[in-house]
Amino acid sequence: MKSFGKWAFAMAMAGITAACTPSDTGGRETANTDPRACKENALAVQILGSGGPIADDHRAGASNIVWVDGKARVMIDAGAGSFVRFGQAGVDFNDLYLIALTHFHGDHVGGLSAVMNSGSFSGRKEPLFVTGPKGDDLFPSTSGLLQSYFGKDGALGYLSPYLDDESDALPNLIIRDIVTEDRPYLQSVLRKDGVDVDTIRVHHLDMPALSYVVRTKGKRILFAGDQSDLSEDFVTAVTNGQPDLMFMHNAISMADGQPRGLHRDGLSIGRAAAKAKAKKLILTHHMKRALDDKDAVFAAIRENYSGPIEIADDLSCYPLD
Ligand SMILES: [Zn+2]
Repeated sequence: MKSFGKWAFAMAMAGITAACTPSDTGGRETANTDPRACKENALAVQILGSGGPIADDHRAGASNIVWVDGKARVMIDAGAGSFVRFGQAGVDFNDLYLIALTHFHGDHVGGLSAVMNSGSFSGRKEPLFVTGPKGDDLFPSTSGLLQSYFGKDGALGYLSPYLDDESDALPNLIIRDIVTEDRPYLQSVLRKDGVDVDTIRVHHLDMPALSYVVRTKGKRILFAGDQSDLSEDFVTAVTNGQPDLMFMHNAISMADGQPRGLHRDGLSIGRAAAKAKAKKLILTHHMKRALDDKDAVFAAIRENYSGPIEIADDLSCYPLD
């Protein structure tokens, strides 16, 4: 497997626009509901999966695409069902610079093998960066996870050329396990053709987990990932730059609170969005219990955050002009 460091950590970089979903304040139904139209924006984020771990509605598991000049450059997570949305959105596997994984719960990586299987038909030659947590005694590293799928002895060993430097049958995956212990809270992940991606460690119970910041065209997009209120590094990092879009996860009801330290409740989400001075807050990774308690969640967010809030659905598009 190639080392991520060998690769382009150089190069330079490059907002987002309206959502296709109703919002709390000032959002609008977009006239264009074609999921393939998102790429027509100079810069946009498209939600592939707006759901969480429980299959109780139409939503795919967490996954997002950053469109830059019509190309899908960064994919954040590949939750179960993202494979279907990947096709609906018209993503071309050849265009991806980076697949950035936040952590290894199934609602975030359950669609990865299907996306990679699809990619094996793309004819792509360019290597593809993949990043995610290093793992620990309990959980695999990113490279370990990918070996378990695509290693020669992996469950999907027929796709092993992805990890074989000597083979040109498939594009090589250039994997970086993000080490967070004793490292700066904000680490560079990608610098390529005007697209900068950094990562910030977050607290998600016992699971090594990351959030990501994508900067391009002078805009800043913050993907919080799954995180609890104990994510101090994240809070520090968000004060270092005002996000044009801030995606946070709507997983728990105000009645449930955060009994296991997995997610932020509405109050905590509002605090983080206010601290970041987010120009727009988008709630995604919805769980039914949180959606059923929407009024209370919104009221809690509003205790601290007064900016626009939107509720993402699968294939929602957020342009940044
Ligand atoms: Zn999740």
